[in-house]
Amino acid sequence: MVRRFTAKLTKSSSIHTRQTPGMRDNDIDAVLSFHLPRLTMTIVGSPRWGPSRLGEIIRSTRILLADSGRYALDIVLPPRCLACGEIVDRQGGVCAVCWRALTFLTPPWCTCCGRPFPHAVDLDDDGEMLCPDCLIDPPWYDQARAVLVYDDGSRGMILGFKHGDRTFAAPAFAAWMARAGAALLADCDLVVPVPLHRWRLFRRRYNQAALLAIAIGNSTKVPVVPDLLIRQRATDSQGHLGRAARYLNVAGAFAVSPRRQAAIAGRRILLIDDVLTSGATVTECARVLLAAGAARIDVLALARVVKAG
Ligand SMILES: [Zn+2]
Ligand SMILES: [Zn+2]
Repeated sequence: MVRRFTAKLTKSSSIHTRQTPGMRDNDIDAVLSFHLPRLTMTIVGSPRWGPSRLGEIIRSTRILLADSGRYALDIVLPPRCLACGEIVDRQGGVCAVCWRALTFLTPPWCTCCGRPFPHAVDLDDDGEMLCPDCLIDPPWYDQARAVLVYDDGSRGMILGFKHGDRTFAAPAFAAWMARAGAALLADCDLVVPVPLHRWRLFRRRYNQAALLAIAIGNSTKVPVVPDLLIRQRATDSQGHLGRAARYLNVAGAFAVSPRRQAAIAGRRILLIDDVLTSGATVTECARVLLAAGAARIDVLALARVVKAG
């Protein structure tokens, strides 16, 4: 007889213990399998553990997990710095050295695109000020905000999340974003990630903007629609392109998913991306969403490129 004990923990995680097939009834080999997002861990226990011991393990582990997913991860892996991998005191933390290297964006900044001004500015009567780019060529979105400057201090951490499978960082990044974008989140109906083209999604296996959007939705309870936008055309990497070429590169690249048309009319949508560079991608997404009937588009990103001077 094979005993199976299953404890449902959350929608995305479970723990079960099982008696190894072929073993005698009282000679139980306990196997605890942790199935957490992107983490599967198996702990093989003592062959002397009986059913009551297994039940105790399940109960205590379930309590730990119910208290906080953090404990579950602490059991199997020590918490590590999101940037350099050094052991830190809590999940989602950054060590002191890496923390000092990060530059968090602070006002004064352009009311529209959120680009920081390098010097003090005189705000208008409404407490607002636009940068020259937004004055000359206003983006389709209303406001964009980001947490960090994308620079030498943050690049490695963000690329590790984007290309290096460090997806465990998503909840921590989302918490930073929820704080930086609190005003935008309070004023939106839906959270929507910037999509990847399906081939890029296939190669990378996950859309980092969607992970951030889902984590933000989890913590703020704002509905998330990960597949509202689709990238109908693969675009060249924007890294080497100038500002004008970036806008051309993404023109016509996005569309609203036919299945999601009804979700848009009159909605205030918060677009989520990992890094804002010229803003060409998010303003093109905003254009498509407004054309489909959205009432207002704002943008929240983990980091943004800030031009010198
Ligand atoms: Zn570090
Ligand atoms: Zn601006």
